[in-house]
Amino acid sequence: MSRITLSQQLQAAWRSRIAAFSPSDADYAPKLVDMLLQSAREQRASDIHLLPEAGGVTIHWRIDGVLQRVDQLPDQVGRRVISRLKVLAQLLTYETETPQEGRIRRTDGEPETRISTFPTMHGEKAVVRLFAGGERYVTLVDLGWPADVTDSVSRCLDQTAGALILTGPAGSGKTTSIYACLRKLVAETNGGRNLVTLEDPVEVVIPGVTQSQVNPAAGFTLTSGLRSLLRQDPDVIVVGEIRDRETAMVAFQGALSGHLLLTTFHAGDCCQALARLADLGIEPYLLRSGLLGLVSQRLVRCLCECAVSGSDGTREPVGCEECVGLGYRGRLLLAEWLDPRHPALGRAILERAEVNVLRSAARESGTITLNQRAVNAVREGLTSRQEVFRALGEFSEE
Ligand SMILES: [Zn+2]
Repeated sequence: MSRITLSQQLQAAWRSRIAAFSPSDADYAPKLVDMLLQSAREQRASDIHLLPEAGGVTIHWRIDGVLQRVDQLPDQVGRRVISRLKVLAQLLTYETETPQEGRIRRTDGEPETRISTFPTMHGEKAVVRLFAGGERYVTLVDLGWPADVTDSVSRCLDQTAGALILTGPAGSGKTTSIYACLRKLVAETNGGRNLVTLEDPVEVVIPGVTQSQVNPAAGFTLTSGLRSLLRQDPDVIVVGEIRDRETAMVAFQGALSGHLLLTTFHAGDCCQALARLADLGIEPYLLRSGLLGLVSQRLVRCLCECAVSGSDGTREPVGCEECVGLGYRGRLLLAEWLDPRHPALGRAILERAEVNVLRSAARESGTITLNQRAVNAVREGLTSRQEVFRALGEFSEE
């Protein structure tokens, strides 16, 4: 199933903005690029994709997590646009056969813009990442977690030892959530706790936190870095992501030896994360005693005000000028919280139970699942069934 949709309104709005530019203008490409960056930001896009295809270079914007096809530029024009972006990012313009990465130099206060290129069958592809300035200041409450999840995480952050794990697929906002936790710790501890991070890469700089970026080429990996960090007398350690057994082992040792550890882990939900950590070879007793809690989260798009009621009473997207015909505007954060210290879950973990057994133990412990949160959001008219299905891959009204 293609996730790329075409909004006629989005395309029309974009075309009207570039209608005055002519390919014969000497500064055609610079003007087009400026308008591209400006228009994408105005539509709250997080990424711009310039994709060379047989018929030309297509432009896509990722808005609220979903790629939207905006237009297709003639091949030559598309190449000039990509070339201009490379100039702005100080990349080698003549080099089109190998991937390159760079950032557009900016003046103070301007949000970060990164560019990466990649050679494809039809020529060079470029992706521009637009970082929203406002996201830098998100606090725990601003995140939009359900109140009970925020409370549970807050209680975890007061602990002096143990691991808090955030799970979810790429693009589910895990990193933003971790940064919000760090900001809370900075605000509340006022230098009283030593806060360190090991990231790949550092995405946002947070004053009051000692942040490090791994450098695998130099042998500075997550695992080796974490081992060294533990000897640096930290109170709170953030490890960008647990990807392998070794990192997981060192992380749990740290969490059990008087450190508060925050990290992310790729899994569909909390119970799947528990099962996958066990599969990685983490002993059940380490999971049982080292874990303070798990959060799993997903971003789903909110229906625009133009939505209508469907036959079953839930609301469906329509599209209006406000949402440039997309039917959605803004996003809602769904989250589930799992407490491994609940007796039912603790038993299931120690017995190396399978995911479905862990899930029934989670229900017994009072966990409100992602799916339940999604069903509630649909009933409240905040989002649609289709959108939940897109984001969660399921929608069951149990
Ligand atoms: Zn609308």
